[in-house]
Parts: sequence; structure tokens; C-alpha cells
Amino acid sequence: MDAAEVLALGLAVTPPWRLSDQRLDTVRRPHVLEIWLASDRGALFPCPDCGRACKAHDFKQFTWRHLNFFQHHCHITAKVPRTDCPEHGVRRIAVPWAREGSGFTLLFEQAALMLVREMPVLAAARIMGVTDKRLWRIVEHYVSKALSELKLSGLQAFAFDETASKRGHNYVTVFIDLARKRSPVVFATPGKGKATVKAFKAFLEAHGGKPERIIEVVCDMSPAFLAAIGENFENARQTVDWFHVVQLFTRAVDEVRKAEHKVVKLPDGARWAVLKARDGGKLSDKQSAALAELEAGDFLTAQAWRIKEKLRWVRAAESRQAARWRITHFLRHAREMIADNPLFEQLRKAVETVDKHQERILERWTSTYSNARLEALNGIFKAARARARGYRNTATFITMIYLIAAPLGNLFNST
Ligand SMILES: [Zn+2]
Repeated sequence: MDAAEVLALGLAVTPPWRLSDQRLDTVRRPHVLEIWLASDRGALFPCPDCGRACKAHDFKQFTWRHLNFFQHHCHITAKVPRTDCPEHGVRRIAVPWAREGSGFTLLFEQAALMLVREMPVLAAARIMGVTDKRLWRIVEHYVSKALSELKLSGLQAFAFDETASKRGHNYVTVFIDLARKRSPVVFATPGKGKATVKAFKAFLEAHGGKPERIIEVVCDMSPAFLAAIGENFENARQTVDWFHVVQLFTRAVDEVRKAEHKVVKLPDGARWAVLKARDGGKLSDKQSAALAELEAGDFLTAQAWRIKEKLRWVRAAESRQAARWRITHFLRHAREMIADNPLFEQLRKAVETVDKHQERILERWTSTYSNARLEALNGIFKAARARARGYRNTATFITMIYLIAAPLGNLFNST
């Protein structure tokens, strides 16, 4: 076996194709190993439509980027024929080493996909020696191909949430299958609100799912979302995730802090103290001191924080009935504390929202699905942001969410 044959080995070069020439171009930097493939003179090729062996009608030269050969780039060039089938006419044939329309060999694409599953696209592009823009195009091709084969006929319960692809704008709404522990993302779409729920319904139907078979939907307390679920998934029970209840109050406490800070000077470190305290975040000495001072000084922020903390007691209820009793108690207690103090405005709104959606919040205690799923979704958003760093337009962000967390199977086999 000579060097040329070794090179051709991984290329899926089968008759009538053969390696015709090779050369290392040392003028270009990095150097380029050029490989030429040719077909035997007079060879017959299968018509792409019916497979009938046909003569070549004419040839056109194409070049593909192949895996690097050590430190050198590698290009493959071949004259690809068009067949002249009596039934299907003149058609360009497919070559065994690359998919139609791609400027890369299949092996190159496979290596690229393996890398982008493990690292940011920019880093993968650097390793492969290719522009990130071309790398994204490969990824997008395989992801959308795999997605088109996604089957959702068994879907019975889903959750969804929105996130910004960039700070403050370009929203993306992501839907997860609540029965899937791994790779839960089944749909991601630009925008937020009602239209996204309708878009998911259409996607579900296009993938073998039945909207009337959906028995549970988990989401936040946005009136637009809740109305859209009722309209599109008529048999679904609506569950408000506990995660969103806590989030609502965390934001409200911060609003109270801002409002109070305009009136009196709050201890330094108050902001993080009330946001982080007992939320798994570790307080610095300064923050602990701030929290103690807030409590001792009987600041409104401390009162608001204490109301929020009482949610833990509600969450710890062991049955739906107990939870109902605790929520009622919680609401009454919160209203007494808030009274008609205008600085508590946001907290008052949060209390009214919980009151309004009490039944949906209580579904939490009878739902068969874990509460951890929406928190996991937030982890997915974070990871996708990190991987798509540098070009976070909505399309690349969505592609990355799918790549990280959708059940795409063996991506590469879905050419
Ligand atoms: Zn044909």
C-alpha cells in the first residue's frame, strides 16, 4: 500500500472512483494536501433517481475540504458526472464521500459535529481550521435534518419557558417533554407569548403528536400563556411551576428594596443579601451583616424578604390539602404585613397573582412530573449561551439549544 492508498482509505473511495493524484502545496499557509479523485474512463454511474447504470453526460469539477492531514489542510477534487437517464434525464450523481451541496467531506462534517457537541463553536472552528460561519452551516444542516425525524406521538405532558438570547431582547421560547429525563427539548421557537404555543401545536401535529392527548402543561403565570394553553390544548391540566412562584417573589422583594432605597439608606450589600440568602447562595460576611442589620432595623425590605421566605413553609406541605391551607394562611399573613404601604406595591401584585392562580399552583402537589425540570431548562439556556458565544442571533441560539438538549439521536446518521 503506498501513501496515496493510505490517504484514500478513510474516504469511502470505491470503484469506479480511484485516487488519481496527490500533491502537497507548500506555497499556501497552512500547507494544503491536494488529493484528486477520478473515475475510470467510460465508467457507468447510477442515475440518482432510479439507480439505472448510465453513461456520463458531462463532468463538472468540485473541491471538498477534508480532515486535516497532521498540520496540513486537505482538499479533495474530483470531476463529478451528470448521468443521462432515458427516464429521468440529465442529473448530477451523488458522490460517496460527501453529501450533496456540501463543500466538506462526510468525515470532516462528522468530526466537526463531535467537536461542537463538546466545546464552543468558535473553539471548534479554530481547531478544524474553518470559518465559524461555515461550521454553523454544517451544524444547522444536521440538526434540522435530525429534528425533521423527531417523533412526538407519545407526548402527553410538556413544560415551556422563555429566555432572552441576548440580554433584554430576542426572546426564544423552549418546550420540553416532561417525560424525558435526558435531552428533554422538543421545540424551540423565536418570540414569546401566545404565538409560540400555537407554533408548538403545529409542530406537534407535524410530528405525529395529538394536541388532545396532552394531559398536563407546566408553565409560568403569564395570562397570555395560560389562555393560549386553554385554546390549543383543551384537555390539558395547567400546572404553575413552583420555580416561577419563587421567581415572582424574588423579583418583588428586589423591587421593594429599590423603592425603599430611594427613601432611606439601606445597609451596603443589602441587594445580594436578600437575593441570595438561603437560596443556596453563600453569603459573604458583608452580606450576612447587611441581612442582620436589615432585620434589626426593621426595614421594609427585611419584611418583604421574610414574606418570601415563608414560601418555603408552603412548599414543604405534604399534601394538596395541606398546601391549600398553607397558601391561604400565607396570603392572609402577607396581606397583613403589606397593609396599604405603597412601597410594597410589587409585593402586593405578586400576592394577588398567587391568589389568582392558586388552583394551578396546587396542581404541583398532584402532578406526576418533577419540579426540577424547569430548573434544568434554565441550566440548558445557560449552557447554550456559553456555547453560542460570539454570535448569539436567535437562529444560532436555537440550534445550540437543540444540539445540547434535544433527542437528536446519532446526529450524523441522519444525513
Ligand atoms: Zn433514472
